[in-house]
Amino acid sequence: MNKKIKTDMPKPIRLSFPHDEERLGWLSMLLDAYYIADKGIHEGIKKRLARGETLACAKGCSSCCEIHFTIPVYPLELVGLYWYVIEKIMGDERRIIKKQLTDFHPGKPCPFLLDGICGVHAMRPLACRHFNVFNRSCSPGEDPYYTRRKDVLTPIERYKNKAINAMLPFHGIKDRAKRRQAVKMGYLNGLVQNLHEIDWLNLAHRMDGKQPILRVG
Ligand code: SF4
Ligand code: SF4
Repeated sequence: MNKKIKTDMPKPIRLSFPHDEERLGWLSMLLDAYYIADKGIHEGIKKRLARGETLACAKGCSSCCEIHFTIPVYPLELVGLYWYVIEKIMGDERRIIKKQLTDFHPGKPCPFLLDGICGVHAMRPLACRHFNVFNRSCSPGEDPYYTRRKDVLTPIERYKNKAINAMLPFHGIKDRAKRRQAVKMGYLNGLVQNLHEIDWLNLAHRMDGKQPILRVG
């Protein structure tokens, strides 16, 4: 008898911060973009589960966050990270993240990693959202993109593009046709930064201050 393949997965939800979204015009764009991307990832993972594969990524599994040194971050994502860290992270987590941001240098584990768990999970960049591995978890130090590419999810292009499209009004590109064209031309690719090369000390300082969140970099 055929073994029934389990493909049930909780559906992604659009995160909502109504008061903050009212106050910060860019936040809805970012949350929309993440929701679109999460739907694409959900669909991509379900397809592979239906083929009998198993998702290896799980909470607490985090060697990827320790050894990946090229993590693209779009400008709006950086604003989102600033906002989330400054306004939403409290208590011990805030203290630890601030220390990790202060001590960070390229090649160290991601400064947002807290005891094996992403401390900015709601605001983690598209690159982190898209990286999903099947069949077995990464060995220490392994980047399966190079060791077993077929086990790494290939994000569905149309969702990826729609997520980028949703971020474009932040850059003043509002017209639908212009947005489509900007996605096609890879407009945002030229503005991307590597998480490991961002001056995180700046964010650590801002965690004490009152500077407006939009002024980042
Ligand atoms: S990418 Fe690898 S290390 Fe990261 S959560 Fe998935 S299986 Fe674990
Ligand atoms: S932002 Fe979160 S998911 Fe991405 S590398 Fe850092 S800890 Fe990992």
